[in-house]
Amino acid sequence: MHTLTTPYYLIDKTALQRNLDIIDYVREHSGAKVLLALKCFATWSVFDQMRRHIDGTTSSSLYEVKLGHQKFGGETHAYSVAYADHEIEEVVAHCDKIIFNSINQLQRYARFAQGKPMGLRLNPGVSCAGFDLADPARQFSRLGEGDPGRILGVIDQIEGVMIHNNCENDDLDRFETLLAQVEERYGDVLRRLKWVSLGGGISFTARGYPVDAFCARLRDFAGKYGVQVYLEPGEAAVRHSATLEVTVLDVGYNGKNLAVVDASTEAHMLDLLIYRETAPLGNGAGEHEYMICGKTCLAGDIFGEGRFDAPLQVGDRLSIGDAAGYTMVKKNWFNGVNMPSIAIKEADGSVRVVREFSFDDYVNSLS
Ligand SMILES: *Cc1c(COP(=O)(O)O)cnc(C)c1O
Repeated sequence: MHTLTTPYYLIDKTALQRNLDIIDYVREHSGAKVLLALKCFATWSVFDQMRRHIDGTTSSSLYEVKLGHQKFGGETHAYSVAYADHEIEEVVAHCDKIIFNSINQLQRYARFAQGKPMGLRLNPGVSCAGFDLADPARQFSRLGEGDPGRILGVIDQIEGVMIHNNCENDDLDRFETLLAQVEERYGDVLRRLKWVSLGGGISFTARGYPVDAFCARLRDFAGKYGVQVYLEPGEAAVRHSATLEVTVLDVGYNGKNLAVVDASTEAHMLDLLIYRETAPLGNGAGEHEYMICGKTCLAGDIFGEGRFDAPLQVGDRLSIGDAAGYTMVKKNWFNGVNMPSIAIKEADGSVRVVREFSFDDYVNSLS
């Protein structure tokens, strides 16, 4: 029955479409444009499906802006924490707008912009982020400019700002409070702009999110300042749209039932480790509880715990849930474990493999 060799990421186009339908709704009801944040998800084999519902892409580097331009199309925003002299012309060639992280960078590279609209990252100093590691408003942050006076000093050079200060924020009140703080401190800046990107990190595709109230808030904001609003979802665009399909290689017991599978958190779902999360596993109800472990030598290489209907056995196939965002873009060759293939499940249920990795890829990643 199983013809594909594990491990593989399985992107489910039907599940992806659920997010895309919500994105369409938000575009229509808020007037905001939506750009996919490639740093979260850059699996271009499903861009044909995504670009029917998403206006374009935003990027964090030269390679991402090139990928967005070549493989996605639409509106392509360039952003980077810092551009280098040898990249700037190629970045400009592949973007529709270029957003600088600092006034320093704006001043260094403005003359390369070829008339393309320029923007600046605004760091409002307030944020919603559970981890200091991922908090753009953390102390001593290098991410964006905060001083309204300094920003007004270059306001004639820029058309817009990008504000990314939410992370996995599923609370509309929290979003609204942060936006009100931005309006209060940066009103004079906002009134001088053509567009404002509110970044990513807003969980508006999550079940139960008050989408209509969110749209109304965005529409009011856009009207008040006369700006085009952009959203830059990463995770929200691909939430629960892929699994990591694995096979049990060994089982054991050491105070808990253990199952070792043919993939790894550190190499294939790194954010589970970084943010101390556990992946959705099992059916939530079975009688047999297992800790699902990766196959690298890292002691804490653990996907999480799940409940299963029957005792797990060597050769069983498991699905590790919510494996689209920040997985394929972060995979690495730690322990020389083979990289999961990438497969796509079409709406009719058929599955095709779109990328496989081999020993040669491993060798060629080193020298
Ligand atoms: C990471 C990032 C995003 C996407 O964030 P998600 O949490 O995946 O939605 C969007 N914009 C910028 C500037 C980012 O750094």
